[in-house]
Amino acid sequence: MMNRREFCHMFPLTGASLAGVVRRPITQAGSAPTGLSPSAASPPFLYILRLAMAPGLREDERVDALLSFCRQAQIDDVAFILWAEELNTGHPTPEEVEPWLRMVERVKPRLAEAGVTTSLNPWVVLLHADRGRVLKPGQSLRLMVDRRGRMASATACPLDPALHNHLRKHYERLAAVRPRIIWVDDDFRLHNHAPLEWGGCFCDLHMQEYSRRAGRRLTREEFASGVLQPGTPHPFRRIWLETSRDTMVNLARILGEAVRRVSPDTLVGLMSSSPAVHSIEGRDWEQVLRGLAAGKPPVNRPHLPSYTETTGPQYLWDFTRVSRLSAASVPPDTLLYPELENWPHSRFSKSRAFTRFQIESAAALGPAGITMDIFDLFGNGAMAQEGYAPILVQAKALAAKLREQKLDPRRETGVEVLFNPDASYSLWTEKGESFSELAPDDSFWAAFFAVMGVAHTYRRYADQKNAVLAISGQYCRGLKESQVRNLLANNITFLNGDAVFTLYKMGLGNAIGVSGAEWVAGDSGIPSYEQVIDGRIYAGLRDARLTAQASTGDYLKIEYAADSPDLLIHTEVRDPSGRRSGPGMAVVRRRIVTLPYGRSASHQGLLHPVRQALVQTLLTELADNRCPLFLANTANVAVFTYELEGRRVILLVNASLDEYQELELRRISWSHEKAVEISSEGSRPLGDRLRAREGGLVLRPGLKPLEVKAIVFPQ
Ligand SMILES: [Zn+2]
Repeated sequence: MMNRREFCHMFPLTGASLAGVVRRPITQAGSAPTGLSPSAASPPFLYILRLAMAPGLREDERVDALLSFCRQAQIDDVAFILWAEELNTGHPTPEEVEPWLRMVERVKPRLAEAGVTTSLNPWVVLLHADRGRVLKPGQSLRLMVDRRGRMASATACPLDPALHNHLRKHYERLAAVRPRIIWVDDDFRLHNHAPLEWGGCFCDLHMQEYSRRAGRRLTREEFASGVLQPGTPHPFRRIWLETSRDTMVNLARILGEAVRRVSPDTLVGLMSSSPAVHSIEGRDWEQVLRGLAAGKPPVNRPHLPSYTETTGPQYLWDFTRVSRLSAASVPPDTLLYPELENWPHSRFSKSRAFTRFQIESAAALGPAGITMDIFDLFGNGAMAQEGYAPILVQAKALAAKLREQKLDPRRETGVEVLFNPDASYSLWTEKGESFSELAPDDSFWAAFFAVMGVAHTYRRYADQKNAVLAISGQYCRGLKESQVRNLLANNITFLNGDAVFTLYKMGLGNAIGVSGAEWVAGDSGIPSYEQVIDGRIYAGLRDARLTAQASTGDYLKIEYAADSPDLLIHTEVRDPSGRRSGPGMAVVRRRIVTLPYGRSASHQGLLHPVRQALVQTLLTELADNRCPLFLANTANVAVFTYELEGRRVILLVNASLDEYQELELRRISWSHEKAVEISSEGSRPLGDRLRAREGGLVLRPGLKPLEVKAIVFPQ
């Protein structure tokens, strides 16, 4: 056990944070932890530690360790993980629940004395996966069935009235602990219930419901084939999505109401997964979160896509496609506590440095705090020797300062990346074999602009005009033809190959000057490299080249209409001998920009300094005074820009291991004389460390490896 002197000795030069540790009785609200003087009105930034203790296993020692860790790491709330994974025997019986909750009830007052609140993280709603579990005597729950008719041994059907009764009583008992938050774990979903194929549910009860809605008796095979039918969606698609949606909204209400009956002040939060995958089951974010909340504020734990440490660049890509899309999908008043995970647990899985980076970069979600599952689930509890406390204190100091700035993703500016949570209703499947084909692919451009250092944001359709838009996948299928035509006529729009192909197949090629489009396999040798042919210098190179076959996806060979006088072909795709295979990046009518690749999960080949310079040049030329802020010659450094009350804010996230001595911000003309930097070193005026240069600004020093900082421009 670390004593206070050892703990203090472990701190680097963060006196302010250290003062916060020593003096602080942890407050109920979790505010004022940083020593950086947040204002009284500033919202708290909560550290929620998800922790597993096992009843009867060294409880006194585990509690001492927990209290010590809470004090040292500035934990505000402990969410007890109950009957999880390695210790899970299936749906817990009322008798099995008691020892766990009595343990929590013994620890809760001791935490309260230390200013730490108590929450609950029960492991089971439907059950994540069978893993050899079966129903217990007295449990007559209906089991989930997949489309092939395979029945789970313990995962339950969410439509089952017996499950509803079981969960009502179960959640009432949980609520009797009067926790701060009850977390509904991410088994609250239809997919990912091994060993079922994709998930469910196609049990007899569900088949009756699908049949009722279809007006005739359906078999599993007929129904699933209809749902996945390639081409124009079959009416069964809507039945699948609406039944799934209704099932989960109803279940959310049952859980929320059960908690509300017993503990009026307890919040009910949802742990969620990838929004694209939730679209396959027609998730209604608004109704599910409000159903659980039962009149209180909605609470969500968005997934942070790195259970095990990955590279910073890959993390930034996935964080943008998953976590930021989650934040854009939930109701605006939702309290977000992102998912800091570490699995299988310990520093062998993830370093402290990367842990800190995840907490700090989560500022881009506008979070109210963070959930931390950094210790194992089977009873070791908080392990002091892992040494998380110092980095957690440092990260919290910055996170709390950024939270004060209210960096709401809905106030972001930049390229508007269009998305539609209901896209699964309208998108076309290609093979019709897997439910995964119902996942939308709207988020490509957000990840692209994130790693390219271009300000951007997620937006839903709002009849945009005079904006810079970016569309990928089959987004346009969710709109009416007139809406699509208006968007394309009234904005500058970036389209990837999938978006161009979708428009062409919708018969809307003429809206973007396209008369033909066909996919050419990326490994066919026909697309090999991309040659700049516009005579310009990009990234210091004349006649620059890019790959057209390595991790770019397939190539969409586009035929532009002969009567497109404004067509500008900037690059062309060639075979290895240099023969022209077709156009590369092009601009049509001075407002449509095409990047002719798609049908792929890989993206690495699309990223290159030449591509970055080309895209940033096109943005500058086409968007003029609408051009978003971008960073010059960075790699994997994201920039977010916010228009807020009385100020503008730039958030910078360096997801690379490179240090930037200086950072050049282009296309920004904001008054910078009073600009303030918020970094891990505190808040301080920038003075002449931020200077004007060539229509932009230069920040010196720029960013350290994996550093997150913000610049506030008072107005
Ligand atoms: Zn079912």
